[in-house]
Amino acid sequence: MALKTALFTRQTEDFDCEECGTHVKGNGYTNHCPCCLCSKHVDVNPGDRASDCHALMYPVAYEQKNGTEYIIHECSQCNHVRRNKVASEDSREAIIALSNGTYEEYLEKLHRRLFKGESKEEKKLPSSEQLSLLKTKER
Ligand SMILES: [Zn+2]
Ligand SMILES: [Zn+2]
Repeated sequence: MALKTALFTRQTEDFDCEECGTHVKGNGYTNHCPCCLCSKHVDVNPGDRASDCHALMYPVAYEQKNGTEYIIHECSQCNHVRRNKVASEDSREAIIALSNGTYEEYLEKLHRRLFKGESKEEKKLPSSEQLSLLKTKER
């Protein structure tokens, strides 16, 4: 009788953001970090977890369509591009930074806040080359 529920398996997984270290509570829809907005390349099609790439996906653009906000993520490894809805728990500061092109600065600020004092070795920030990839592609 209870078998029916098995047909609808919502993926709920917690994960630690590989970019900023934030522990993200999965709710089945969360696919990116609310703090730095980074995602992970785990899907081929949304929700299928069929990709074995698993590299970090950086937000590269912000989009608004019919009142819905989207973050465009690009995989740092294979350049796979994906559009994700902005979640209610996402940092507004991050979204705004992404929309006005100061995301890199935001990320730097975030790192400084997180690793206060201890001078962490240059953490691999997305290179400006990486961040401009999307623009290049649009041409
Ligand atoms: Zn993060
Ligand atoms: Zn990838």
